[in-house]
Amino acid sequence: MTPPSSIPIQKMVEEIFTEKNISVDVLRLDTIHETVSGNKWFKLKYWLEDVAAKNYKTIATYGGAYSNHIVATAFACREKGFKSIGIIRGEEPSALSHTLKNAVAYGMKLYFLSRENFKNKTFNKDWNDDEVYEIAEGGYGKTGAKGASEILSYAPSLDSYSHIVCAAGTGTMLAGIINAALPHQQCIGISVMKNNFSLYDEIISLIDDDKKQNQFKLMHDFHFGGYAKKNDSLLKFMNDVYAKNGLPLDFVYTAKTYYAINQLANENYFNAGNKILMIHSGGLQGNNSLPPATLSFL
Ligand SMILES: *Cc1c(COP(=O)(O)O)cnc(C)c1O
Repeated sequence: MTPPSSIPIQKMVEEIFTEKNISVDVLRLDTIHETVSGNKWFKLKYWLEDVAAKNYKTIATYGGAYSNHIVATAFACREKGFKSIGIIRGEEPSALSHTLKNAVAYGMKLYFLSRENFKNKTFNKDWNDDEVYEIAEGGYGKTGAKGASEILSYAPSLDSYSHIVCAAGTGTMLAGIINAALPHQQCIGISVMKNNFSLYDEIISLIDDDKKQNQFKLMHDFHFGGYAKKNDSLLKFMNDVYAKNGLPLDFVYTAKTYYAINQLANENYFNAGNKILMIHSGGLQGNNSLPPATLSFL
């Protein structure tokens, strides 16, 4: 869990980008770590520091059965010598997902809650609250955003970009990026949930400087039916991108983000000469939930 010394950046080749005279570079956070990949490494950084500083020995956090945050937290806790508890949305399945199996292998103890109880966080804890440090679902909060703000320090010639685009689940990563963006840059978040309009205020509350509140836009039209929903055209798009550019995408976050960039380019959202930086926020482990051979890569 040492900070990456550098992160590769990849220039994307698409006819539509050439035609519209824009460029799109991808910052490959997916390459930094096999398990704590992508933005999870950054989002957890200061949470873990706080746990250690306050002398806690156990972390509890929340997430779904395919959550990148759950498995990343489990792994990071094992690395740091903390115990970990995963509170999982939905009844216990007869077979654990690939994600949860890994979390258990890293020593995480799982508790399953009905959707209702998960939402209200009503359940009998068999631990003492004073002894357990809770991290919100997805690492949401200023502590998570602080870590995410360090992502942009890995972009070479950051000031050359006009737009920075990333996926938004809880919006923590986007908030960190807005906080670190230069004044001339527009940040765009691709919301991966359907009609999640409260996301805007959740992001605003993580922005340090009021002047930055106009520096971002959320796009709500690229969820493909909702969180973790997909269709054949999205899967084909992922295979095409891999065949042409060798870039692996995950179907929950980064495929929808890169699809959105292509679509926005097509709709002349960008101006000629614009330089776009997309954050590849990782999450490739989630592709393991797809039937074998759905993707040409994994
Ligand atoms: C968790 C995750 C996100 C969402 O990050 P937020 O900070 O919750 O918006 C985006 N991309 C990937 C790959 C993720 O795993």
